[in-house]
Amino acid sequence: MSTPFTCQRCGKSGGGRVERPPFPHELGRRIIEEICSICWEDWKRRQMLLINHFGLRMHDPAARDFLYKEVRRYLFAEGGSPTSIDPSQEGSVSWPQS
Ligand SMILES: [Zn+2]
Repeated sequence: MSTPFTCQRCGKSGGGRVERPPFPHELGRRIIEEICSICWEDWKRRQMLLINHFGLRMHDPAARDFLYKEVRRYLFAEGGSPTSIDPSQEGSVSWPQS
């Protein structure tokens, strides 16, 4: 039995935890401590959309940084609103690099 906890994002406690830190740094630790597996699945769907939409190549450090920023925005509401995805622009846009 895992210890019940309340997800920081959805405020529910029935989702269960993410089993393994999905990232090798502080962000991965926060996800297993604060985010439920249901919200994590939401993020994974969004991540696929972002990768397809912006044509992200995950060996590119700038693309990974962009996704980490989006994780913070989407799951932790930090650093502004999540980047919007316009399906009509798929594959033809570059990600916002700040
Ligand atoms: Zn949640």
